[in-house]
This record gives sequence, structure tokens and C-alpha cells, in this order.
Amino acid sequence: MDRVTQSYEATVSQTLFARAARVTPGGVNSPVRAFGAVGGTPRFMGSGAGAYLTDVDGREYVDLVCSWGPMILGHAHPAVVEAVREAVGRGTSFGTPTPGEVELAEEICSRVAPVERVRLVSSGTEATMSAIRLARGFTGRAKVIKFAGCYHGHVDALLAAAGSGVATFGLPDTPGVTGAQAGETVVLPYNDLGAVRAAFEAHPGEIACVITEAVPGNMGLVPPREGFNQGLADLCRAHGALLISDEVMTGFRLSRAGWYGIEGVAPDLMTFGKVMGGGFPAAAFGGRADVMDRLAPAGPVYQAGTLSGNPVATAAGLAQLRLLDDAAYARVDAAAAELRGLVGAALAKEGVAHRINAAGSMFSVFFTGADEDVVDFASARRQDAFRYGAFFHAMLNGGVHLPPSAFETWFVSTAHDDEALERIAEALPAAARAAARADRGPDPAPGAAAELEPGPGPDGS
Ligand code: PLP
Repeated sequence: MDRVTQSYEATVSQTLFARAARVTPGGVNSPVRAFGAVGGTPRFMGSGAGAYLTDVDGREYVDLVCSWGPMILGHAHPAVVEAVREAVGRGTSFGTPTPGEVELAEEICSRVAPVERVRLVSSGTEATMSAIRLARGFTGRAKVIKFAGCYHGHVDALLAAAGSGVATFGLPDTPGVTGAQAGETVVLPYNDLGAVRAAFEAHPGEIACVITEAVPGNMGLVPPREGFNQGLADLCRAHGALLISDEVMTGFRLSRAGWYGIEGVAPDLMTFGKVMGGGFPAAAFGGRADVMDRLAPAGPVYQAGTLSGNPVATAAGLAQLRLLDDAAYARVDAAAAELRGLVGAALAKEGVAHRINAAGSMFSVFFTGADEDVVDFASARRQDAFRYGAFFHAMLNGGVHLPPSAFETWFVSTAHDDEALERIAEALPAAARAAARADRGPDPAPGAAAELEPGPGPDGS
């Protein structure tokens, strides 16, 4: 450290955050990174290796965010890095078809049976936006059903959540989305098939599609009730609508074929992102051939992208997917199960009421009574979210990087070995004590409660 740096009390992260705030709104390029829900200064990360991140001040953390899902093999996996190095050496973008796109599309189709055709795009948002357009183009209908608490990227029509638990036309969640854009969106409570049935009856012949997260991970982790996704598929078929299963988060993470590989409910269209890009901007939507073939240039529904199927991104994604065999999933599942046990035991020891929801290797901790099921957005919001900030910062001080919001999923990787879990175990007692001691604070001023409210989604909130 030189003398100039030493004379500052600020850490390098604080200095960078102050610089960033002068040139970037809020100092970040995706809102949840700003630590708004937990307070404090975000850590600027300088490098990652395996289960660990190192910040620009030289502190190392066990990473339980994994870039919000993509880094399922851990950071800088040698095979992925090598594939990227090779691809970059051949050129970074051609604006023509490339062999890697075909291989990645074949890999996806071979893993996920309902995907007969797939189109590559650059982000999960693009995937869901395009899938909705295609569903509307295919059915000739306008309305879309989505569920409160589900996040599908920052697509205008999907940034809508109901104010109450009944079937309601969506009101925009953010300035800039017009009533007209959100007005064709029907927002329903998650896990409530009766509400979906009623919405189909209320709007006969008008609903183009139902979009749902395969397992919602954006209000914390809230698994579908037994039969819920099948019920959605049945209702869609009965009413001539399409079911879009958003597997951007779950795809290629929960099994070789994502949540579909575990549950087996076949949707009409699916969306993917995160894991399939190996840490690069790659995403996809795919499904029934007769629906997908309505896309340009095979059909009339327009969709395009300068960097779609980018050769570096496809090389990274392919390298990652090819290493994800059943043994890799078993390893991630086992690490997640052990971690859930450690967290649960530490919180129980300090008498902190909590509930851990899980699906495969994805899970989240709700500071809510152990006897209260968290089944939808309303029950997720009833948790004592004020405890999370204290828990989060104690973990961060103990060298563990958690999602900076109580309403997010925790992610592990194949690199989370015994040593990484031990480090987490060492940090947990102090964090559990901090959560136990946290107090609710004064009643927030009107509007201030938004601090502890879930935002629209991971790294989009
Ligand atoms: N769908 C789901 C289920 C997501 O979790 C996300 C992002 O977290 C998206 C869509 C949007 O993906 P992206 O951030 O790549 O636009």
C-alpha cells in the first residue's frame, strides 16, 4: 500500500463506489449489487477461484451467490477458462452462424426433451420477452398470466405484481412501464390453481400464455406445490394457451435437464440463461417445434440479436455444460444439503425462528416461524426481514459472501468442498447471534419499508 492510500481511511471498495456513483446511477450496473436492502458499501470483487472471491482490498470470501447462479463449477474453472481462451483467439464475433451455436443448441435439445428447437439470445430478459412475443404471435391472443413474486427479467409487461392476493390486472411496478404495457398482464398468487382457473374463465379466448418460474427463486425459494405445474399445463391445454416455464435460474442447475428433469412436466416453451452461458451473456428460449417455427426467418414472429450465439459465450457455456454430469449435480446437491444443516443448526442454537425452503441445490432462509409455510409472495413477505441485514454483515465480516437481500436464493457450486463449508460453519455462530439480537427498529416512515421489500428479482431488484 502506498502512502496516499494509507492516508485514506476508506477501503478501495469505498473509493471505487464513490467514483462509480459519479458516473453510474446508484454506482452499480444492476440494482441489488448496491446493498440497498442490507446497508453498507458493496464489496468490489477483483478475482474469483473455485468457491472463493477476493475483493479489491484483498479479503477472501466463500461465495454463496455464484454470480446469481451461473458459476455452478465455481469461479475460473480451468476447462471453461481454456475454452474461452481458445475461442477468443479465433475471433470474438462474426455476425454469421458459427459451429458452436449448433453444438450448444444440440446440447440443450438433447438434455431437455420438450425443447425441440431453441433460439440463442444474450440475457434471460431477452429470452422471456421473446417467448412472450412468440406465444402471443402463435395464439393471436394478448393476455399473459404471471405470478406475484416471480421475476422474469425486466420485461415491461412482466414488471407487474398484484397489490392484493386476488386476480387483478397488473399495475406497473416501476415508472416507465405504462398501464397499457402492464394492462394485458394478469397477476395471480403463486401456488393457487383456483386463481388460474378463475382467470381463464374470466377471460375466455384471451390468454396467450401462463409464464411461471419452474421453481420460483426470486421471492426467496418457494417450491411449487405438488401438482401445481402439471395443473398449469392442463389448464393451458384446455384453454388453448401456452405454458412457458422460466428455467433461467433452475435450468442446468437442478439436474441435467433443470427442474423439468426432476418434475417431468412438459411446458410448451422454456427459457434458459445463467448456467448455460458459463459466466458469459448467453441465454435461450425453446420448445415445441410447431411453435418455435413461427419465429423469423422460418415464420413471421420477429426476433433477432447482433451478439446472439456469440462464439465466446457459446464456447464457455458448452465447456460448462459438458462437465455437468450426474456426479456433478450429486456433488452440488450434497454441499447444499450440508450447508442447509449448518445454517439451520446455528440459527436454532440462538433461538432464531426461521424456515429453509429448498429445491435441489437451491435454497433460501426465511426468518419466519418454523411452523409457517412459505408458499407464495405474501407469506415470503411476512418474514422478519430486518434480521437479514445483521446476519448478512456478520457473515460478510466472517468471510462469507451471501446475497445482499433476504428475498434471494443462495447458490453453491461443485467447488464448495469441505474446507469451504468449514469456513462457513466458523462464520455462522456470530451471524446467528447478530440475527437474534437484531431489532425491528422504529416503525418506518411511509415508503421507507421498501428497503426491506423484495425487489423484482436477483440482481435486477
Ligand atoms: N428469469 C428468471 C427466473 C431469473 O431469475 C432472471 C434473472 O435473475 C431472469 C429471468 C432475467 O435474466 P437476466 O438477468 O439474464 O436478464
